[in-house]
Parts: sequence; C-alpha cells; structure tokens
Amino acid sequence: MNRKAVSLLSGGLDSILATRLILDQGIEVCALHFTSPFCNCTHGATKGCGVQAARSAEELGVSVTVRTKGIDYLRMVREPPHGYGKNINPCIDCRIFMLKKTTEFMKEVDASFVITGEVLGQRPMSQRRDAIGLIERESGLAGLILRPLSAQHFPPTIPEKEGIVDRNRLLDFAGRSRKGQYRLAEEFDLKEFSCPGGGCLLTDSIFAARLRDLFRYNPDCTMGDAAMLKIGRHFRLSDKTKLIVGRDRQENERLTGLSLAGHLLLTPVSFTGPSGLLIGQTDESLIGISANIMAHHAKDPSFPLTVGLGKGDATDRMIDRLAVDIEALRI
Ligand code: SF4
Repeated sequence: MNRKAVSLLSGGLDSILATRLILDQGIEVCALHFTSPFCNCTHGATKGCGVQAARSAEELGVSVTVRTKGIDYLRMVREPPHGYGKNINPCIDCRIFMLKKTTEFMKEVDASFVITGEVLGQRPMSQRRDAIGLIERESGLAGLILRPLSAQHFPPTIPEKEGIVDRNRLLDFAGRSRKGQYRLAEEFDLKEFSCPGGGCLLTDSIFAARLRDLFRYNPDCTMGDAAMLKIGRHFRLSDKTKLIVGRDRQENERLTGLSLAGHLLLTPVSFTGPSGLLIGQTDESLIGISANIMAHHAKDPSFPLTVGLGKGDATDRMIDRLAVDIEALRI
C-alpha cells in the first residue's frame, strides 16, 4: 500500500474537510468529482458544485478529475437493487456505483485507498452503520474507505493499520448536527463551499414525480431526457406526449435551444407569455391544449390566441379557448 489516496470531492464542506485532514498527514491526494443531471447546482459557468469542486481542489492544492455518471447510472436509478429512500433517491446503490467507478480511477492513478466526507448517521439511508458496511462490501473496497471526519466510530481501516494514516488525528463526528464541521471550517479558514446538506434532486418530491413519469412513459430515456426535467413546468398530455412550459425568459430560451427532432416548439405570438415544448406525438387537439396551458401562465391572454409552431420560420396558428383541467395534467 502506498501513501496515495483518491478523495471523493463533491465541493461540499464535508469532503473538503476530509481531504484537508488527510493532506495534513502528508498523504498525496487525487480528487475525483462526479457530475449528473440530478445535481441541483450543476448549472452556470461560475456556480454549482462542479465549479466549487474545482475551486476547492485548487485551494487544497490537489488535482481534480471530473467524471459523468452516465447512462448506466440512469439505469441503476430506474431499478436500484436496494430500493429508494424517501423519494426516488437510491442512496445505497448510488454510493456503490460511485465507489465502483472510484476503484477504476484508483487503478488509473495508482492510489491505495479512498477518502470520503461521510459522517456516521448524517444521512438517513446511506450513512447508517449497516448501510455503510453493505456499501463497502458490495463496492469491493472493504477496509479501504477512510472517513476522516467520523473515523473514530469505525474499526481501523487498512491504511490506519499499516501506519500510513495516523488514527489519532482523525475525528469522531456523528449525527446530523454540523457544528463540528463549521468549527473546523473556521479553523482551516474555509469560506466557500457548496450544498452543505447535499444538492441531489432525486431527494426532491416534485423532481421524483417527473422522473417516475419519465421512466413510466419513456423506459429508454437518455441522460438528456432526464436533464430536461430540471426545466420549466411539466404536463403529461397523453401516453406518448408531454409538454414543458417555460417559467421565465431564460427557460423559454433554453426550450428553444433544446428543441430537437421529435419536438414541436410553440411560441406566443398574440400574447406575452411562456414558450412550450411538445415532446412526442402531436396533433391539432394536443396543440390546442398546449396553447391553452401556455395562455394560463401568460400575462395577457385573449382568445383566440395565436401561437407559432416550430423553430425558426414558425407557422402561425389560431387557437380557441378550451376547458382544460390543467392541474390534472401537471406532473
Ligand atoms: S442523495 Fe443523491 S447523490 Fe447522494 S447518495 Fe443519495 S442518490 Fe446519491
């Protein structure tokens, strides 16, 4: 075993502190950051935990490698062998997935063990003692996952037994309170970190309903389909058709940019309001319903409405008022 570790650096406070504690023992660390469409702070060029992970790595003086979780992650989320937490968060299988990917990365960089910012009892599903044991066994990393913030609550890992890591300098944090972490952040003079409590959309009930709908009606969905669940208001119009309506100008522009083959972009012409993106099979009736939903979210709808159909050279279409139970269609 060498003096080199991989740190799972999320950009959140716990993983930064865990990395720092190990660096302070003179151990070489390579940081690894995973991205997925299910992080609620991965957007923007200047914010988000991916950016924060890069900033934190720079501050810590370590290199960081970014890996996307990919389609095999989406398949796992659809049918997780160990089930879901409160919403559609498959935390146990998610940890196993990331740790298996980490094992591959350890080989690439010739590292001997893994550091995580996990704290015993902090998260209800994946940070219970029994779940942690199960995750270690199934990831194939038993004895090689070091949790510097909570290490005193676990049996010594292999790097501790081999004297590579000094166990006496590891901590005993446990539970949901974050007081210890904030005190340590002050001690280390850390001011910037993202999503201290986690930023995972799979734990969000509204996002979970959208993802369940996607899995039900589009079992072969892609990561791009999953990423679209983060934008706008969603309505299920039929087994084969869904409508997304923008919530602000930025989302209207994003819907225009995301409009691809198999999508029909609807834009307001005779009123000031949101754009809509119809995904799947469309017909006159569904276009009418969609335009009425757009009008419901508009400032000045007056019927008949005119909407543009298509991107670029749109065709104008007059739409009459319809009795649409919008709430019944909302996902
Ligand atoms: S909260 Fe989300 S990212 Fe974290 S372990 Fe659970 S599923 Fe994975």
